[in-house]
Amino acid sequence: MKQLNDTYGRVHNYLRVSLTDACNLHCVYCAPAEQRKNFLRANVLTDEELITLITFFVRELRIEKIRLTGGEPFARKNIMKLMAQLADLKQQTGFHLGITTNGTLLAPHLKELKTFGVDSLNISLDSLERENFRTITKQDSLQKVLDAVFEAQRLGFPLIKINMVVMRGVNDHELLNFAQFALTHHLNVRFIEFMPFTDNDWSNNKFISYKEMITVLQSRYSLIPLHGDKNAVSKDFMIEGTNGTVSFISSMSEHFCDGCSRLRLTADGKMKICLFSLPQHDLDLKKLLRSHSSPQQFEEAIRAALKLKWKQHPEPEILAEMKNHSMLAIGG
Ligand code: SAM
Repeated sequence: MKQLNDTYGRVHNYLRVSLTDACNLHCVYCAPAEQRKNFLRANVLTDEELITLITFFVRELRIEKIRLTGGEPFARKNIMKLMAQLADLKQQTGFHLGITTNGTLLAPHLKELKTFGVDSLNISLDSLERENFRTITKQDSLQKVLDAVFEAQRLGFPLIKINMVVMRGVNDHELLNFAQFALTHHLNVRFIEFMPFTDNDWSNNKFISYKEMITVLQSRYSLIPLHGDKNAVSKDFMIEGTNGTVSFISSMSEHFCDGCSRLRLTADGKMKICLFSLPQHDLDLKKLLRSHSSPQQFEEAIRAALKLKWKQHPEPEILAEMKNHSMLAIGG
């Protein structure tokens, strides 16, 4: 069993799996409702297909970390049945299992997820103000998300991260409140640079670089750099004198492509070699699966697709012009 290397020597051991492109929220930065075109049901991978593919990646291609995303993973029908099967596979093979979720449908599932051994929860939360939360997501669900965050903490999930996409004029006035939230509740808040995707309303005016965010935070807090692993996507800091941490995901202003270890699987079974890779570079794993390809054909196709991976993704202005999947289909 050989590692999955690309032409630049990067080892790919992390697979992000989008379970559905459906989402109960309509976040302005992701894909606005009026432009939504969801996959046909028949094109979405079934539970059995997902388990077959994930098993192959873990057992044959040395994938060590799986993150479930979407759309909203908990909007997938019968998700807990799929989770139970993933938990069995995790027990046999020992991969790291994470979920990225908007948190609105999470609370009722938390106890079971804990027994399934879910290692990490990334919960999206873009505003701590009820009205602003509603404006950004088009749903009045701030309290549900907060309840899920605190219940996850109470149940002792090993890793909980809060993801905030920071947009000028939308929620940038909340940066200091989020740092306060991190330190009050001993959480990690990750400030994410706004990225352009097909159908989202990215513009240069709304973009705020991580350097600008950090300057705002340093006006009140002393931030001590933490040194993570070389494949980490975030720049992490401890808020001095507290258990709260803040992180910055500088995908646009300071890319971290050199340490990229990620592959992505869309809900309709396409393997993406980069978050921003062109649709013509996607590998249709569902087609291979439904035409009963052999394990050898799978492996050859995956390794060949990976050879097309860029050294680094283009600049934001170029990305904004490119035709790609929406974030709902890719899953972040
Ligand atoms: N529904 C889940 C959620 O809200 O976390 C999972 C899917 S969502 C597409 C995954 C992550 O992508 C979220 O943390 C979200 O904030 C982030 N995201 C979506 N659109 C983005 C954009 N344009 N720029 C930066 N991050 C984005």
